[in-house]
Amino acid sequence: MTMTRRDWLRSSSAAFLSVPVVELLSASPAHAAEWPFQLPKLPYAYDALEPVIDARTMEIHHDRHHAGYVRKLNAALEGKPELQKMTLVELLTGVNQLPEEVRTAVRNNGGGNYNHSLFWEVMQKNGGQPKGELKKAINDTFSSVEAMLEIFQKAAIGQFGSGWGWLTVGPNGKLSIISTPNQDNSLMFMVGRQIPLMGIDVWEHAYYLKYQNKRADYVQKWCSIIHWDMVSDRYNKILKELKG
Ligand code: MN
Repeated sequence: MTMTRRDWLRSSSAAFLSVPVVELLSASPAHAAEWPFQLPKLPYAYDALEPVIDARTMEIHHDRHHAGYVRKLNAALEGKPELQKMTLVELLTGVNQLPEEVRTAVRNNGGGNYNHSLFWEVMQKNGGQPKGELKKAINDTFSSVEAMLEIFQKAAIGQFGSGWGWLTVGPNGKLSIISTPNQDNSLMFMVGRQIPLMGIDVWEHAYYLKYQNKRADYVQKWCSIIHWDMVSDRYNKILKELKG
């Protein structure tokens, strides 16, 4: 790691964690504080992303699926004051050291809460283009935005079963493209931990009403609604914090 460890690794308030966990403020979606976690409001109307994502899918996805992850995460930490003091990012980066009776619930529902909170934030009707430092990093790593999106789409389409496709940031600011199963994300990795920069939900509940089995069609169209101004700003914030 070339960055300052002071910022990447920070001791958790939870004494039972045997390794330090990440607490990067910039890694959190806007709402993610502490228990009891709240379902964030959608930053736009249900139909705002039509025709790429239909209003009915957005409503069910946010009001039922995301709400369910928040409710189950809160339930899992009920009566556990030590865990209730941890932020969502601390819970996810420390998930492998959590007490066994809550580990799977935090992994699935904490991951689901984080992933969806970020998902809503990284979409807008007309996506635009990466800018500034992010544009430079994309060109340096992948040679062009088009080439990067091609790799991103392959990762998202190729994820077997339910999961996510991601553009992530490593501790040195370097970009990567990965996919994860279920509600996992790269904050949970024990080795090669990355900060999610933006991600696409490829669970069938994210696209089935409109696209049925045509995941590739959904993924391609989704790339036109990436909120690149937001993602570029998020990259700048993460870089700044990584550099301390
Ligand atoms: Mn989902």
